[in-house]
Amino acid sequence: MTPGSSVDLKIKIAGRLACVSPSATLGLTAKAKAMKAKGLPVISFGAGEPDFDTPEAVKEEAIRSLKAGFTKYTPTAGIPELREAVCRKFQEDQGLSYSSENVVVSCGAKHSLYNLFQVLCDPGDEVLIPAPYWVSYPEMVYLAGGAPVFVETFQGEGFLPKPERLLKAVTPKTKILLLNSPSNPTGAVLGRRDLERIADIVLEKGLLCVSDEIYEYYLYEGLTHVSIAALGEEIKNRTFVVSGASKSYSMTGLRIGYAAGDAEVMKKVGMLQDHSTSNPSSISQRMALEALRLPKSYREEVRGIFQKRRDKTAALLSKVNGLRPFMPQGAFYVFCGIAETGLSSDVFCARLLEEAYVAVIPGKSFGSDKHVRFSFAASEKDIEEGIERISRWMGRTIKG
Ligand code: PMP
Ligand code: GLU
Repeated sequence: MTPGSSVDLKIKIAGRLACVSPSATLGLTAKAKAMKAKGLPVISFGAGEPDFDTPEAVKEEAIRSLKAGFTKYTPTAGIPELREAVCRKFQEDQGLSYSSENVVVSCGAKHSLYNLFQVLCDPGDEVLIPAPYWVSYPEMVYLAGGAPVFVETFQGEGFLPKPERLLKAVTPKTKILLLNSPSNPTGAVLGRRDLERIADIVLEKGLLCVSDEIYEYYLYEGLTHVSIAALGEEIKNRTFVVSGASKSYSMTGLRIGYAAGDAEVMKKVGMLQDHSTSNPSSISQRMALEALRLPKSYREEVRGIFQKRRDKTAALLSKVNGLRPFMPQGAFYVFCGIAETGLSSDVFCARLLEEAYVAVIPGKSFGSDKHVRFSFAASEKDIEEGIERISRWMGRTIKG
């Protein structure tokens, strides 16, 4: 076989991959990066990763740990200091009491979620996923043998899951309700009242809740993050909270995420990890520990920068004829309606990249072909220039 090619041996791929598609977020971001590397003037609103450098103290810790030889296997579920630090974080931020047995550290929040679905889903178990949703949720559920059941939300309703629609979607097979607040891709934030109504459904129907809170520190307009697990002991017992270091501390490549919940379930998560990845990188764990020690002011500063970018992105996009941006209350994305262009989201994004060198992600991969996602994890200069390009391109495209 020549390098990079495949000999046609008709190798049968396992059936469980039949429903799984490539990750559009990772795919398009990689394409934009490759075009940039070729010297093309690409502006990327693709990547869902903070564009700041990893904090200096965190990088210093990596060097210290490396020099001290902290390069061997660690306990699979994470070093004790990190698991304890995660417990302290939950206590300080949300008043949630966990002990280390409730916490497993994994190779990114993506891995934490993947593990949870593997441990919780039997074939046919249904997982309620409010749509639009982050690209990887349905695939993770499929890979665990479960069945994603999408519950639509609408721009005109703030992209919030309506309790009536959630209730209607519950069947005897429903096992888990997945929440993601602040949301990727919409930036919608579930407030305490919304969460209380959702928690009532979880309890009334005897469900479990997986709450992906990876954007917990990115809320705007003075809003504060509320975890559904913090609403009371009963709902806490049925909830698995997921978060990590990627978005909060600009550590996407270092792959540290964690989940907290029922100790027996988390023990199984650790066991699954024993037989798959073992521990997440020892050095990354030490870095995450250092990150959790950063003063609150670090996160406040980053949040302030993102608030300015959000305001700018939303204001500029709302002036572009044919676009209908949704003002996000959290995360770092603007989900933008493109129905007036008459283009599918795939075509919109492919043409925008080829013709104007601007990368955005098709909404189709998040469950809405009438939207595209802008990540405003980009400099204000890029935001201005990128949207100016889009405006000119839209002028030509809509006319022509
Ligand atoms: N959840 C959501 C909603 C995300 O956007 C991401 C982005 N990568 C993740 C989980 C996973 O993050 P990571 O694996 O880098 O911790
Ligand atoms: N979560 C980020 C995004 O939505 C990073 C890419 C990924 O893992 O999907 O862009």
